Amino acid sequence: MAHLDTREKLAILADAAKYDASCASSGTSKRSSVGSKGIGSTEGMGICHSYAPDGRCISLLKILLTNSCIFDCHYCINRRSSNVRRARFTVDEVVKLTLAFYRRNYIEGLFLSSGIIGTSDYTMDQLVRVAKTLREEHDFRGYIHLKTIPDADPELLEQAGLYADRLSINIELPTESGLAKLAPEKNGIRIRGAMTGLKTAIDDNKDARKHYRSAPKFAPAGQSTQMIVGADGADDSAIMGTAQSLYGRFQMRRVYYSAFSPIPDASAVLPLVSPPLIREHRLYQADWLMRFYGFGVGEVQDATDAGNLPLDIDPKTAWALKNRGQFPVDINRAPREMLLRVPGLGVKTVNAILRVRRQRALRLDDVGRLTRGIEKLRPWLIAADWRPVALAERGDLRATLVKPARAQLELFG
Ligand code: SF4
Repeated sequence: MAHLDTREKLAILADAAKYDASCASSGTSKRSSVGSKGIGSTEGMGICHSYAPDGRCISLLKILLTNSCIFDCHYCINRRSSNVRRARFTVDEVVKLTLAFYRRNYIEGLFLSSGIIGTSDYTMDQLVRVAKTLREEHDFRGYIHLKTIPDADPELLEQAGLYADRLSINIELPTESGLAKLAPEKNGIRIRGAMTGLKTAIDDNKDARKHYRSAPKFAPAGQSTQMIVGADGADDSAIMGTAQSLYGRFQMRRVYYSAFSPIPDASAVLPLVSPPLIREHRLYQADWLMRFYGFGVGEVQDATDAGNLPLDIDPKTAWALKNRGQFPVDINRAPREMLLRVPGLGVKTVNAILRVRRQRALRLDDVGRLTRGIEKLRPWLIAADWRPVALAERGDLRATLVKPARAQLELFG
């Protein structure tokens, strides 16, 4: 590996970390002031935004310890056979960078991942050392998210949880067959085993802290994972099934969906084109339906056409169109779970409707004032002064609900 200074390493290892979507901010247009007047750039990598457990948006220094790796996962730019420039930080360099950025108020925490060097245990030990040094030697109180290596000794994962706020283990692909094809050195059983270990440790810690407030916290922001979308043949129905099992079995805080983007020097087994980014967006919407709107995985799967979520309408509208018999919903009488199924009604609006209707019957205008617009809601609602005339039976209803397509910007375009 050529000798590189810290700035060069930072350029390589911040760029290499951008493919991890676990804390990605969304795409925007390219602007840069390099070589011209002005200040700032939207293209730089290295600092990303994430959400703290209390909902605050925080900035994280997002880097890899190294982009060298002994594994050869086909979808990964850092894989062994990839022809990229390699770099490696020492533990001390990451600690110094984090503290320097923190003191300048550039960041509120660190997101650290790594390719596997030497052995899984050695790599995990290096990651733990960074977090341990920050916490114990520098009394660092900022947020730390560590990517963990499923094959590493469970003892190391336990140590990681004592220093990090959040731990994550990537499930990588939605199906075992996809994993076997695209990441043959990874093992789905071991990945799930490591997730089980983290869940147990998090649960045990919560229990211990109920009895002993002085018990040290273990990964208080829980665990999360990431699934690559579109690199294998898994459809949205399979992806949501896997997500549901990850939330149920391992109590994941978040499952991140990362649309596969073709990488330079890509492996021949990968598709030539990436899936449309709107697919990733629809999966996040379906994920929200399961987590916050009370939809079961079967209902989300029911919204798909031949296994995939429609791209031109959101999953809740797709589900409602397939279940027209359950509409229109009486805004003044329907239970909360049915109000949450009305396209265009969010959780906050539903809570407001429930509050207001205790005092008086809501009219259509009242609902309009609580939402961004009433047009989308008309076919699905009954209000004190409104009853749709079999609108839900209209053959052209779907066409009236489709918004004109807008081009979505690429995250790494
Ligand atoms: S183990 Fe991680 S870093 Fe290494 S090739 Fe696979 S995905 Fe990339």
